Amino acid sequence: TMSRQFFVGGNFKMNPNSVAEKRALTELLNQANLDSSVEVVVAPPSLYLIPLKEILRKEIKVAAQNCYFKDSGAFTGEISPAQLKDAGVPYVILGHSERRTLFHETSEIIAQKTKAALASSLSVILCIGETLEQRETGQTTKVCSEQLQAVVGALTEADWSKIVIAYEPVWAIGTGKVATSTQAQETHADIRKFLSTAVSPAVAQATRIIYGGSVNKGNCKELSVQPDVDGFLVGGASLKPEFVDIINSTK
Ligand code: PEP
Repeated sequence: TMSRQFFVGGNFKMNPNSVAEKRALTELLNQANLDSSVEVVVAPPSLYLIPLKEILRKEIKVAAQNCYFKDSGAFTGEISPAQLKDAGVPYVILGHSERRTLFHETSEIIAQKTKAALASSLSVILCIGETLEQRETGQTTKVCSEQLQAVVGALTEADWSKIVIAYEPVWAIGTGKVATSTQAQETHADIRKFLSTAVSPAVAQATRIIYGGSVNKGNCKELSVQPDVDGFLVGGASLKPEFVDIINSTK
């Protein structure tokens, strides 16, 4: 964790299902006693980005869950990095496994999106991770490196100051099957090693690598003390009061 600021993101996915639920979640976060040394970012559906930003305490930032790689034009249903920037949205999640799997986004598309987001001065939470089959056949490091390599090729060294890498093993997302702290630490260390070689030792040292996949209030503390775990990306538990315990896990 060293000098890297601890980062906790909440990925609401296609939730909450009503404005009332959104209000309840906001009140919970606004009233909670949050560790002020942690960077907190929540990612609601795009429809709620602006209203949520307006009612959330100002220390909490918002993130989009996706964006396109063009700034405007005939791309029905898409939202551009320039539009997010104009709306005051500072972050975007890219490469989530649900986008890769359900919406067929390749690493090359995700690299184009990352490049476009950075060109609009957005920060990016870049998600990578292996499937269960890939882990069981010893391909975790290879898969993570390949997913990152596509992005490395599209970026400059300076661009990395605006990227947070979320290591999210696919088998741990929404399954209740969290990675052990040893598994998370080993993979995070491998990712950092890859960055050191593929980009630079300085970028490897400075880049936050956060863990995602069934993080909850019961398992967050043990994961948070691992030296290469710089925070969390939280799905299901970010919709619940325990999100506050996860934000405060290093306290
Ligand atoms: C996610 O979708 O980014 C995630 C980590 O989900 P969950 O915490 O529900 O496993």
